[in-house]
Amino acid sequence: MRILILGGTALARQMAEQLVSLGEHQVTTSLAGRTKNAIYPPGEIRIGGFGGVSGLANYLVEHKIDALINAVHPFAAQMSANAEKASAATGIKMLRLTRASWDERPESANWIWVPDHQSAAEQAAKTPGNVLLTVGAQHSNEYFVALAERKVICRIATTLAEDPPKSWKVLQLRGPFTLEKETEIFSQHQISVLVSKDSGGEQTEAKLDLAAERGVKVIMISRPHTSKNAVTKVSQALDWVASQPTNLG
Ligand code: NAP
Repeated sequence: MRILILGGTALARQMAEQLVSLGEHQVTTSLAGRTKNAIYPPGEIRIGGFGGVSGLANYLVEHKIDALINAVHPFAAQMSANAEKASAATGIKMLRLTRASWDERPESANWIWVPDHQSAAEQAAKTPGNVLLTVGAQHSNEYFVALAERKVICRIATTLAEDPPKSWKVLQLRGPFTLEKETEIFSQHQISVLVSKDSGGEQTEAKLDLAAERGVKVIMISRPHTSKNAVTKVSQALDWVASQPTNLG
């Protein structure tokens, strides 16, 4: 089969590795092209936007794609919405492969769940103590005004486009983060408030273990988009691929 994986995540990379290792499929991973020094999965790679729903639909048809695996990050809402529409328009089957939500954690009922960054910033402003902000470089500036006077540790993998308030400290670090590493950060900066997106998965989950252990307040941003045909494990996605009719033309 010809399979297109919408990537940019560790799960997408694992899926490509597994599919390529089967030796039965033509596998292409699509990346947005925003990350410098990206780790490329095996198989073919294409980089850059498709040009909206119609661009993706055209790509699927022109490249005779048999199956689409949408493995973009849970917060890449635009790409996910486009993928669903392009799949519906072309009739090409699509599976959503995404990390399980952290809402399955027992203590998640005690978190402050918010729908977006603006609400998260408002809640963080109301919650006293030093803040660990882990919402990504693209969105950290949305907290500048609300948390201008607060001690904020802004942990990002890349760099901020604008200078943050003077009371902020930027930690440029790339995950995964171990419990040991999180303990060092939480202790050194006396963290009492954690702001996070519900990205899910294990690579950045240690901060939640530590927050639960230390009674740190958690402000969690809900996922923007959910798909019906979704799985959380590569093995489930492989089963789905195996169940599709073969159509290698
Ligand atoms: P987004 O807002 O949902 O997408 C914006 C546009 O970027 C899409 O409409 C599409 O352009 C293009 N695009 C996004 N993902 C693409 C892909 N895999 N291949 C080709 N084009 C893609 O996406 P985003 O939140 O900026 O995320 C961009 C990439 O970073 C994704 O691949 C995602 O998996 C990865 N990522 C995102 C986050 C996050 O928190 N959002 C975290 C880690 C990794 P066209 O409309 O022109 O097709």
